[in-house]
Amino acid sequence: MEMEEKDYFDYCVTLLKKRGVRLEDIADCARYLQSSYHHSLTSEELMESVCKVLGKREVQFAVITGIAFDEAAEENRLKDKELEEILLRDEPLYGVDEVLAYGICNTYGSIALTNFGFIDKDKYGIIRKLNEEGKNTGHCNTFLDDLVGAIAASAASRFAHNSEEEDV
Ligand code: MG
Repeated sequence: MEMEEKDYFDYCVTLLKKRGVRLEDIADCARYLQSSYHHSLTSEELMESVCKVLGKREVQFAVITGIAFDEAAEENRLKDKELEEILLRDEPLYGVDEVLAYGICNTYGSIALTNFGFIDKDKYGIIRKLNEEGKNTGHCNTFLDDLVGAIAASAASRFAHNSEEEDV
């Protein structure tokens, strides 16, 4: 008997939007990551890859989980106040936000992981905005910036692999 599998794609798009992230913003980060290899690439060309990445169940679960923690911390709903404080100050040594993001990258191989490391340091576009917003305005984007970075990094990796295949 086949179990019907629920798809959380639309739910994740709504959650991301609620937290100030559009898929176009993620596609722009993915374009940025590929721009040194494909100079005239547009964000629209990366959109398909962003949707494919977000179409994966484990990516959807990571997004739902990370955003739930950010929101709970922001609204002071976490029972563990030590954890809440760690999340609210985006403690640099916390690292669980990155580990959740690696889970996304792992399905797209080493290029995704390298891309993630780069954009996490470089903080391009929406990632920079989320990072700054999370630090200065009472918002908690501790998980969100890494989720966005990981989806962009994975989409860039997927695009790189697909365009390599076309060349062969
Ligand atoms: Mg973070």
